[in-house]
Amino acid sequence: MRKKLIAGNWKMNLNIEQSEKLTSLILEKLNEDIFNKTDVVLCPPFTSLFNVHTLIKNSKIKLGAQNIHYKDEGAYTGEISASMIKSVGCEFVILGHSERRQYFYETDETVNLKIKKALEFSLIPIVCVGETITERESGIHETVVENQVVNSLKDISPDQLKNIIFAYEPVWAIGTGHTATPIQANSMHRKIRTVIENLYSNDIANTIKILYGGSVNEKNSADLFSQPDIDGGLVGGASLKPDSFTEIILSA
Ligand code: PEP
Repeated sequence: MRKKLIAGNWKMNLNIEQSEKLTSLILEKLNEDIFNKTDVVLCPPFTSLFNVHTLIKNSKIKLGAQNIHYKDEGAYTGEISASMIKSVGCEFVILGHSERRQYFYETDETVNLKIKKALEFSLIPIVCVGETITERESGIHETVVENQVVNSLKDISPDQLKNIIFAYEPVWAIGTGHTATPIQANSMHRKIRTVIENLYSNDIANTIKILYGGSVNEKNSADLFSQPDIDGGLVGGASLKPDSFTEIILSA
């Protein structure tokens, strides 16, 4: 059985002090038993990684970053490498978030390079895929997501794939309050599993975790997470509210 995972994507929010406050509140609210059922990952901005790690390192909460560059090091002003986030305590990294694709021109090709770099440093990539509203309304949403999955997995071996997590995040649902229905979300998760089964095997398709992201909150999370192919959530806005985020974790 796939263990549920809830990741909080804090995006470009919270300075160090605010990050520490939120982390402490989350730690206070979570009972140790919860981690037997659900993994929890916090993805603060780069500037807060060290301080958040210091607070969570003796707990079962794990740390993730929101991006890396695909090169090891060098003249890439403003970028952060896999080795850097590894050295600050990260075990996970969000890759190909739609905001990065939309505002920073990330492509399936760069996402693929980043996945390979993350794996080289034993980081678990949370690879985001999802269609825009126009793509859904024109009926090409499954093809769009299929292409994103196939392209991002170029030259990834079956053994490597076991260490990758996907997040289906319909762009029209991110930060909009319009969540995909549990049926819509599960159907795309099923599609992603089929794509992986065709590329690799049924075993791998059934092992891989696929999270849902897009306006998840404490009111809709239980219904979404009860779907057979939804293995947890990538939570943006609600992960900044300690009560909502812990309720989402409990609902998984
Ligand atoms: C996200 O940032 O990945 C996300 C899903 O945001 P929100 O939950 O705010 O829609």
